[in-house]
Amino acid sequence: GATVIAIDGPAGSGKSSVARAVARELGFQFLDTGAAYRALTWLILERGGDTDDEATVLASLGALDTLELTIDASGQRVAIAGHDVTEAIRTERISAAVAGVARTLPAREAVNVRFRAIIAAADPGIVAEGRDITTVVAPDADVRVLLTADEAVRIRRRFGDVGGDEQQVGARLSARDASDSRVIDFLHAADGVTVVDSTDLTFDETVDAIVRLATE
Ligand code: C5P
Repeated sequence: GATVIAIDGPAGSGKSSVARAVARELGFQFLDTGAAYRALTWLILERGGDTDDEATVLASLGALDTLELTIDASGQRVAIAGHDVTEAIRTERISAAVAGVARTLPAREAVNVRFRAIIAAADPGIVAEGRDITTVVAPDADVRVLLTADEAVRIRRRFGDVGGDEQQVGARLSARDASDSRVIDFLHAADGVTVVDSTDLTFDETVDAIVRLATE
């Protein structure tokens, strides 16, 4: 069957770019699960809704039928309800509102059904990244990695990407991890999950470490 590589980690751990690079190197598909949570958040805000209102989140779940996630590791299109939201879901406005969707369990179950279908159809393999891939979405994955880095390093890297005020970038990153980790424990490795700490690794070294786990 297909090889499945599951990668979880906190905000700013570099999961997404590392996972994509691992997928490219191995010729695998790539699944960014956070993009689904972000796309739902975008749609709720677009319709004038509040992601902290559970009924609103529940009412939005039907729109998952229109969610398009590119799983080609070289592409990155995300669309929902016919809107291309590839860029729009990366804003701070979305990051700040996504928690309401993430803590709504029926929303998690609904996206997980889709993730599992994508993973089951993977050919010849797939790298899936998020917060609960190693534990909930694909606990039977061939390779399970918790990608971490010291918080100061994650904040510095995120700041390098987005700029702005470093203190504010740090406060937002910490707040999102605190809120997310109340829903899913991605700060500790579950049994059988290998911790890859990228604090002192370059991007390429981090990618190599995971590729090695997949090919050894
Ligand atoms: O990984 P990314 O920062 O794009 O994820 C956005 C948000 O989606 C996270 O902060 C979290 O609330 C949620 N998420 C989740 N479970 C996943 C992936 C993302 O709850 N597997």
